[in-house]
Amino acid sequence: MSLVVASGCRPGGDVDPSDYLIYTLDPETGEYRLSKEKIRTLRNIRQVDGDVLEMQGGGELAEGIEGDPVTREDWEQALIIKDSAPPSIEYTVDDGTLIPWDFDSAMMLTVYHHMERSYDYFNGLELGTDLEQDLGAKVGDMVGKIPCYYYPQIKLGGIPLPLFTDNAAYAYTLNAFLVPPRASLDDAVPIYANRGVITHEYGHAVFNRLVYNNERVPDFLFDEWETDPAAIRALNEIGGLDEGLSDVWGALDTKDPNYIAASIDEDLIDRDMGKIRFYETCLFLAVESGVYPRSSTCGGNYGEGVANPTDSEDVRFDYSEGDGYDSHHLGAVVGSIFWEIREQQRENITDDEWARYVVQAMRDIQNPTKDFRLSMFFNALHDQVPVAHQSEVCQTLHDRLLAIRDELQCLP
Ligand SMILES: [Zn+2]
Repeated sequence: MSLVVASGCRPGGDVDPSDYLIYTLDPETGEYRLSKEKIRTLRNIRQVDGDVLEMQGGGELAEGIEGDPVTREDWEQALIIKDSAPPSIEYTVDDGTLIPWDFDSAMMLTVYHHMERSYDYFNGLELGTDLEQDLGAKVGDMVGKIPCYYYPQIKLGGIPLPLFTDNAAYAYTLNAFLVPPRASLDDAVPIYANRGVITHEYGHAVFNRLVYNNERVPDFLFDEWETDPAAIRALNEIGGLDEGLSDVWGALDTKDPNYIAASIDEDLIDRDMGKIRFYETCLFLAVESGVYPRSSTCGGNYGEGVANPTDSEDVRFDYSEGDGYDSHHLGAVVGSIFWEIREQQRENITDDEWARYVVQAMRDIQNPTKDFRLSMFFNALHDQVPVAHQSEVCQTLHDRLLAIRDELQCLP
């Protein structure tokens, strides 16, 4: 890139660009590429600071208190980011288009752009008067402006927060998005340049606002459900629902049930919502106890990794006996069941209507207690479906939620 300053091409700052060169999905090819896109809400371009997101660079993720957190206030402080600072990105503005000069500048703008699209998606949901009154604001405005920590250093010991499984994360105790440094610099599009992934992360913030009323430290952390055998199932089913609904939002926003595949090889992570999946006994036992049981006790076939979409009962993950439960596994089941019903009802129910049903069902399970069951969400979702289509939806729920079908209120 030329460094010569010509008219219309100058080191940025004093020119208001109308377009930004960022990474986004080409809907024609399904590939990610640099593309000129609009960003509406940036207030300070250099610092990547606007109405949706405040970018913070560097810093170090650290434990903010001595010893184990006990009180809610402890938990709020348990995880902090020290010594981060607003970035100062490098760019030129050429003919009204902002062109970032380096990789990090391009990526920070890309994350901002995608977050703005996620905000637009959630704020544009047509929820109807009653639900909007109940919420008191549009969903994107409920999420509000959030800090995004770009490439913080991570040297964490004891705090069991499932932060980095997504490689881009929403940390609810911080109310912040985290973009950890890339593990490898191969050709694949960084996961946080993936629009669906960003909406997935935004979806976790939405879950926090709708289900936990914006509480930074949900009861399950504060009350230590993890060490209470009577609460493990509720904890893990909430975690699975949170992951699954984030996938639902990512897919509804991008119209792609396998949006993650653009960034991650399916052999490594298979989260395709287009595949039939089951809440079957092995997964259920792992949810109940926190650990995957011996496969012979539940008729499972662990360990082959890639799910087989044609062999219906055998769509499973690459977990093995003794592995700890991973909420993305149940999440993939939740996402897949939703997508199956959505496809089944294509002629009858629009995506806008589905979004409204999901938001309402999330409201219906607000402030979950140790008695929470995943079935409560699906019962609430089923109740939203117009009566004429309920029996079909009910049948699918019974066919997929094998381990908890007794808890479904509807009868197919
Ligand atoms: Zn997630």
